[in-house]
Amino acid sequence: MRTRSDLADRVKEALSARTVGERYGLTANHAGYAHCPFHGEKTPSMKLYDAPGKGFHCFGCGAGGSVIDLVMRIANLPFRMAVMRLATDFGIVGGMVSARPAPNTRKRREGEYTALCKELWELDALVAALAPATPHDEWTDAWCAAMDRQVIVEAEIMGMEAEGFGRPRTA
Ligand SMILES: [Zn+2]
Repeated sequence: MRTRSDLADRVKEALSARTVGERYGLTANHAGYAHCPFHGEKTPSMKLYDAPGKGFHCFGCGAGGSVIDLVMRIANLPFRMAVMRLATDFGIVGGMVSARPAPNTRKRREGEYTALCKELWELDALVAALAPATPHDEWTDAWCAAMDRQVIVEAEIMGMEAEGFGRPRTA
């Protein structure tokens, strides 16, 4: 069973628990301590580390882990969904930022935009078709790969829309 991915590693390396915690509703004091959402307390005892990759640790109840663990528990999401949420919310698409192609003509890039939209549409269908029937079923590599690609394609499309290509997609 595949429970890790390159994307998960990139998310963990790129984000600090403080950035992530504050994005999802925790408030850290100047020392980086927040009220722990996992046990009742009056004094903040959950350390949200500033350094990316260090994660969080609650000195009250012992809860701790990576930024992915944090989002899994705060938002009650399975591992893959927590990774997807972080990658989407923080725009993490490994390799794609530095590997941008050289500027092309506008017309050629419009063609790329159309192709990306078509690929995303196909990926949406693929992800739905490959999804485990129940939360207890195994995740197939094909499903994980399709979701990784989905995040990348979606980010590419959003980037191009920010440059003025296409129209915002409607639900
Ligand atoms: Zn705690």
